[in-house]
Amino acid sequence: MNLEQELKRYLGFDTFRMGQKEVIETVLSGEDVFAMLPTGMGKTVCYQLSGYLLDGLVVIVSPLLSLMQDQVERMRAYGEKRAVALNSFLSTAEKNEILAHLSAYKFVFLSPEMLASEGVRTAFLREKIGLFVIDEAHCISQWGHDFRPDYLFLGEFREKAGKPTTMVLTATATKRVRADILEQLDLSGIKEIIYSVNRPNISFRVEKFAAKREKEEALLDLVEKLATPGIIYFSSKRLAEETAHILRREKGRRAAYYHGDMEPLDRILIQEQFVSGQLDLICATSAFGMGIDKADIRFVIHYHLPADLEAYMQEVGRAGRDGLASVAILLYANGDEVLRRQLADRDLPDPNLLQLPENLKETLPEAEKRFLNYFLRSGLAEAEIRERIEKRRLVKQENLEALLGFIQTEDCRRVYLMRYFGENDFSETGGEGCCDNDAASLEPFLRQEEERDTVSSSSFRERLHDLLLE
Ligand SMILES: [Zn+2]
Repeated sequence: MNLEQELKRYLGFDTFRMGQKEVIETVLSGEDVFAMLPTGMGKTVCYQLSGYLLDGLVVIVSPLLSLMQDQVERMRAYGEKRAVALNSFLSTAEKNEILAHLSAYKFVFLSPEMLASEGVRTAFLREKIGLFVIDEAHCISQWGHDFRPDYLFLGEFREKAGKPTTMVLTATATKRVRADILEQLDLSGIKEIIYSVNRPNISFRVEKFAAKREKEEALLDLVEKLATPGIIYFSSKRLAEETAHILRREKGRRAAYYHGDMEPLDRILIQEQFVSGQLDLICATSAFGMGIDKADIRFVIHYHLPADLEAYMQEVGRAGRDGLASVAILLYANGDEVLRRQLADRDLPDPNLLQLPENLKETLPEAEKRFLNYFLRSGLAEAEIRERIEKRRLVKQENLEALLGFIQTEDCRRVYLMRYFGENDFSETGGEGCCDNDAASLEPFLRQEEERDTVSSSSFRERLHDLLLE
């Protein structure tokens, strides 16, 4: 079989991107595969094309509702009507209708939480599954930043389904997280296809400040100077919103905000406007970016610290997918780690929740309910659960230390990142354009003078200052 021809026939592309062909060849030969491809290298092509070339249903487990919906819509747009997403946007009647006619579909996307429900599992176990895809598999690892307890039941489901050919896809993950994924899924001996996390066209910079006030001014200057499109990441939804409003109203910039509390339709609208070039700047939380297919993003700024270096690589990896020079700038003011530590603690479940009476457990927020269900189903004793939560807290602490090390290092930042991910070939590091510690200049990333907004609005500076100084 000529895979290039099949690629053209089914998906309309002429050539494969790095890693895709190897992944597809592996599953076509009936072997399971674990793939970590550089961000933006088109993981979806891997399971779409494999799915067409294999008999049976393709089941894709994905953690994000918006991402699933987006993928289904894209597949429909190119004429694939047998794709569907089973998610909470559907009514019970609609969901049951799909489950009763699963064999009419080729590609079914669903969340791990959905697959954990008994009725849904039973319906899938009746079908012939040609390919079982676990996307964003780092969510299975308790050492990763996106831990989702329901991912832990995927191994059990796979076993019950008769171990269909499995494709495990993950974004940037450390060796420890990768080993954990394979252990949790009971997939030892699987073929691993691991590519370097390095993206040579992204230049790394960290700017350090003694106080917040200086950091705000730096953000302001940068946004004014840098060529767009660009993304500015915040930890605070409110700050993302307000900065976007100011950039829009007072600077006349084409800016918008994006975070997880927005209505799904609003989020899709903002994404589309950004992708189609109607917006130049997005002020966002980490909810923004997965599944965004925009090749020409020129910069990613972190105003607050990212969750950890895995999250950081994913977020900066959204820049420069067209291969052109792009820049990642992390702004750090003394004490920024305090906020990050608070956010990390907030993500950990409170073990005291286990004592709640049944009727009150039902009223908990979704994330905490999930944790409780996971612990209850896992049959662990309370002491063990407490121990696990504590261990997770320690891992988060270590991850934060590694992130602070990246900020403080005086050596090549790219080497630091690659080392963190367990790599040891540093031939593509150093030199012009690598990072600020290698004396890379910001000059190539600046807007041309005539494009620049010459109005220097002092009121804008003051207002932004009021907002940023919390
Ligand atoms: Zn460097």
